[in-house]
Amino acid sequence: MRLVMLGAPGSGKGTQGTMLSEHYGVPQLSTGDMLRAAVASETPMGLAAKDVMERGGLVGDDIVIGCVRERLSQSDARNGFILDGFPRTVAQAIALDHLLAEGRVGLTGVVELVVDEELLAARVANRAREAVLKGEAPRKDDNPETMRQRLASYRESTSILSNFYQNRGILISIDGMRDIGTVSADIVGALPWN
Ligand code: AMP
Repeated sequence: MRLVMLGAPGSGKGTQGTMLSEHYGVPQLSTGDMLRAAVASETPMGLAAKDVMERGGLVGDDIVIGCVRERLSQSDARNGFILDGFPRTVAQAIALDHLLAEGRVGLTGVVELVVDEELLAARVANRAREAVLKGEAPRKDDNPETMRQRLASYRESTSILSNFYQNRGILISIDGMRDIGTVSADIVGALPWN
């Protein structure tokens, strides 16, 4: 199972990606998590990405593609993966095609979670509140101002990818406005095998 999760910030990509990862026994590869780990350990990549992430912009294609190339070459990704947050630009989508072609494989499908914008902001505000309640630090980019920029980045660079994958016949659009279990069941039911 080789899947891409597509959707705006707060659409539920991470939550549904975790479910799919457990269901199919393949790793969930989140570029956001990889970048946050690099920022926390102050690697050169983390230092280069930190400001852009805190502003809600997109980290440069070269950095992110390098990160994914490295991660896909690890043995646990050989039998499949759930990509969460990548690709986010057409250049990244083309790079992913090339990376997969090197291993003579292709994507099984692209799951797009469709959610109204008003609900997205509320979900992200809720995620920040829940982190505080759990005694964790909320993500630096889970605040209303950065959220507006993250949505703008999504509209400008990422939303076009629905058409990109629709034209290939591998886009699975799912209504992400419903409860987590209903959305999960719909995704699994829509995939080629389960
Ligand atoms: P996420 O956890 O997917 O919401 O990502 C958090 C932030 O990391 C994004 O707002 C971007 O700044 C950065 N990021 C994650 N994935 C990518 C990507 N594929 N391309 C560019 N920037 C990314």
